[in-house]
Amino acid sequence: MTGRENTGNEKIAALARFLAESRETVIFTGAGISTESGLSDFRSPGGIWDRFDPDELSYPRFISSQESRRNYWKFYREYWKEALGVEPNRAHLAVAKLEKLVNLSAVVTQNIDGLHQKAGNSPEKVFELHGNMWEVRCLSCNDLYPWEDILKLLEEGKEVHNCRLCGGLLKPTTVSFGQSLPEGALREAQRLSGRCDLLLCIGSSLVVYPAAYLPEQAKRGGAKLVILNREPTPLDRIADLVIHGEAGDVLSRVVEAVETKSY
Ligand code: NAD
Repeated sequence: MTGRENTGNEKIAALARFLAESRETVIFTGAGISTESGLSDFRSPGGIWDRFDPDELSYPRFISSQESRRNYWKFYREYWKEALGVEPNRAHLAVAKLEKLVNLSAVVTQNIDGLHQKAGNSPEKVFELHGNMWEVRCLSCNDLYPWEDILKLLEEGKEVHNCRLCGGLLKPTTVSFGQSLPEGALREAQRLSGRCDLLLCIGSSLVVYPAAYLPEQAKRGGAKLVILNREPTPLDRIADLVIHGEAGDVLSRVVEAVETKSY
């Protein structure tokens, strides 16, 4: 059975109505919105954690051991190559379209792939809670280094050098286990989730904290909570609407319903 057959029209119409009536919507996305672009999520079978040991890639290890940094960059080399040329899919395009159609105040994402901006969402409305894989900075002075140069070094079998300005360690801005989330993005995401009247979660297992607090916070603030995911999540029990389906299929139908006012 396809996702289309799984997701009934009533649920599509209900979500379209919530979106059309909302005065302030926050969309919260996870790795599941990017799987149709060909990027693996982390927890599904065959995902990243089936191939790499998350403990080995943690921030404390990165900081303290040269050997762990080598492993980290090995992982990154593979991850960059997997993501090269990846394009937004119809779920990202639908989210970008919703920015024009409804009162969307923010797209808060746990993703690091930059695909919401590439799909057309305004960069100032996208809050990246876990950083961006295409941005390499010095951990000490924040100086920016082109990822292409670092990938070239790795491809040539060379070591990644330290910061040319201050000698600090270079690292993609992506948040590793044991590393704090970017303060500014988190603060804005919390503020907007606390005051929105609709929070729509798309493609997240909702088990990674503190990011997964946002739907709970929105709910406590009186917002409606909608969860769209391929499989059940621990927060389904507090949601006003749960849609188990494929993000691309469901969201394109929702956009069509909003556009044609079929709700
Ligand atoms: P997750 O892997 O824990 O959960 C993804 C969820 O999406 C799963 O429950 C899965 O069933 C669902 N899903 C997969 N494909 C789907 C589809 N087409 N339609 C609907 N649902 C689908 O991901 P998470 O909750 O985002 O947490 C993992 C963390 O790993 C993130 O915080 C992120 O930083 C990082 N990550 C990012 C990317 C990316 O940027 N694309 C990819 C992998 C992991």
